[in-house]
Amino acid sequence: LEFCHQLPKVELHAHLNTSYSVDSLHELIALGGQTGDHSIEELHISSHKEIDGSFLLFSKIQQLVRTEEAVYTLTHRVITEFAQDNVKYLELRSTPKEIPETGMTRELYIRTMLRAVKDCEREGLDIVVRLLVSIDRRHGVKVGELTVDLAEKLMKESGGLVIGLDLSGDPRVGNAADFIPILLDAHSRGLKLAVHLAELPLYEETKKVLRSCAAKCDLRVGHGTYLHRYDQGMGHDEMEDLVIKEKVPIEACITSNLLTMTVDNLEQHHFKYWLDKSHPVVLCTDGKGVYGSKLTEEYFKAAEAFALGKDRLKQYVVSTIDYIFDNEQMKEQLRTQFRAAVNTLQ
Ligand code: IMP
Repeated sequence: LEFCHQLPKVELHAHLNTSYSVDSLHELIALGGQTGDHSIEELHISSHKEIDGSFLLFSKIQQLVRTEEAVYTLTHRVITEFAQDNVKYLELRSTPKEIPETGMTRELYIRTMLRAVKDCEREGLDIVVRLLVSIDRRHGVKVGELTVDLAEKLMKESGGLVIGLDLSGDPRVGNAADFIPILLDAHSRGLKLAVHLAELPLYEETKKVLRSCAAKCDLRVGHGTYLHRYDQGMGHDEMEDLVIKEKVPIEACITSNLLTMTVDNLEQHHFKYWLDKSHPVVLCTDGKGVYGSKLTEEYFKAAEAFALGKDRLKQYVVSTIDYIFDNEQMKEQLRTQFRAAVNTLQ
């Protein structure tokens, strides 16, 4: 575990509101956040829950993050905690909220996150942070369009601290394919795309999104739990072929997938499947608070389950840099930093 902690790491799939810690929950409550009749313990998933259980929980946590102060505090805390976990490059994502009672607007929400990112930089935290603006598929296409406008505006204003778009939300609601024009539009405006896909066996929408976006856009797939399983019983492995052909990286969130029961057991996790194919696959936390697992622990679980030795892990962390959304210059800078760091590790 200590070795995995010491490894310099990139985190590419982390939702702000599910990446809290017990400390940050206490701070949010001190700021006036309400947990209703739930204790802090109940805000973690400690046993396996169907996916609707987690979405119920997400909405409870979001009740704690309704003011500018709360958004700032949580963002600052989450970044600090990732830095403590030896994450050197973080892409943090969140759905901008419109909350009339507290004066929160979507723009203020992301601006507040940006303020926390800049403050962390000013304070000298050893971590590079970029933001992805999330579209919640439950909010529909209209809100999606507004979100792209906002993300583009703040990408330009922030000099690239906002770097892309995330499509997430309950996969049982709506259809990801409805968002294809929005994704293509976002791509044409220079935004990178991280799309939750194939988290459940939703073959049609996965096919449509991949066919429309995989070749054209800078795209990563969030979870992709079912991507390699579509051929089983469905007589179709087109999705897998497309993902391989276009080298679409997969964000693999082991603990999250196990706790939400989208993967049956660790040994069967698709991280190994893609790794064995030498296809880009990046270990991520998804929500280090709600799933109670830091990135170090995700590495440790993968290393144990799939017998990844120290040299393999050193090589792997350097390879993950290829799949960040930032540019070549940043990648080179990180590679130099990571190589120097892993060379000192025993
Ligand atoms: P937020 O965007 O910072 O509020 O983070 C929580 C939100 O992230 C949830 O309301 C969902 O929209 C999204 N999210 C978190 N985990 C998942 C997941 O596993 N699948 C799809 N969406 C998710």
